[in-house]
Amino acid sequence: MNIRITKSEKLKTKPDQATLKFGRTFTDHMFIMDYCEEKGWYDPKIVPYGPIPLDPSTNVLHYGQGIFEGLKAYKTKDGRVLLFRPDKNAQRLNASCERMCIPEMKEEDILEAIKALVSLEKDWIPEKEGTSLYIRPFVIASDPFLGVHASHTYMFMIILSPVGAYYPTGINPIKIYVEDKYVRAVKGGMGTSKTMGNYAASLYAQQKAEEKGFVQVLWLDGIERKYIEEVGAMNVFFKINGTVITPELNGSILPGITRMSVIELLKSKNIPVEERRISVDELIEASEKGQLEECFGAGTAAVISPVGELMYKDHSYIINNNQTGDISRMLYDTLTGIQFGNIKDEFGWTVEV
Ligand SMILES: *Cc1c(COP(=O)(O)O)cnc(C)c1O
Repeated sequence: MNIRITKSEKLKTKPDQATLKFGRTFTDHMFIMDYCEEKGWYDPKIVPYGPIPLDPSTNVLHYGQGIFEGLKAYKTKDGRVLLFRPDKNAQRLNASCERMCIPEMKEEDILEAIKALVSLEKDWIPEKEGTSLYIRPFVIASDPFLGVHASHTYMFMIILSPVGAYYPTGINPIKIYVEDKYVRAVKGGMGTSKTMGNYAASLYAQQKAEEKGFVQVLWLDGIERKYIEEVGAMNVFFKINGTVITPELNGSILPGITRMSVIELLKSKNIPVEERRISVDELIEASEKGQLEECFGAGTAAVISPVGELMYKDHSYIINNNQTGDISRMLYDTLTGIQFGNIKDEFGWTVEV
């Protein structure tokens, strides 16, 4: 690709690294590439960060034909810049595109665009312990007219945001509400894609859970409200009687890259791990027998998020005395160690920018 670069004339002041929030400040530049049927994907460029003019009839604003990705760039102690398995994000971006009738891109072009922008903005990657630069690639349908039909034109963009440590005061278990009325996705729907509508669909239950004092919801399957799917926008794992179990990718669960890495890491350490259907009844039974040893969410933002309490139909189930379990801690330390370049990357997961 030949990426045209227009530099910003006035650079912003960088935010205080001690008080960074998630997704509030953005860097000086953004990447944009357009699509039309005659030219395919064309005119890749990096331009000053700023608003984009959109016609009020723009397709994505009405019908939600759009997808996104999320990954991070990490600065190592010796000043190198690492990405974590960005090839997997590029593959998943294309998989989401396919599901949403958006023309795919070349995987190497997606990676080149990410690297070019991160490299230009590398002074924006915070160095304070646990901080990173969040990378948000996304594609929107940009046809300026109404009508429920796949768009003929698209925009692929990448924006960057410096983010603080997810756990400023150390990794701590969260309280989760098991949602048995509303669902996130169904088989045959869009659950396996990182598409905008899935997040819109999740807001109502998430808001209700917050009002009741819970941090996130545990989603159950859309048909029987019986089998575990995900926790908020993370994949979920349980340790029952020594075995780590995560719901299998059944057609409504988002295939997380952290999930995939957790499974590979556990296998490499000979810790038993199973991908299979798991019901909420099985969890409760295990909890009552004292065999529900750990529960944690896994996703790019938090990496590993231990769960200390599950609330299901007005009963509260406390897990591991509301403490972070050994497996959760080990996974968190190992994954963040690899991401920040503090542990040798035996898997070849990191890519230097
Ligand atoms: C992004 C996402 C995940 C986690 O995926 P990672 O690649 O690990 O960040 C899990 N569930 C949902 C619904 C997501 O959107």
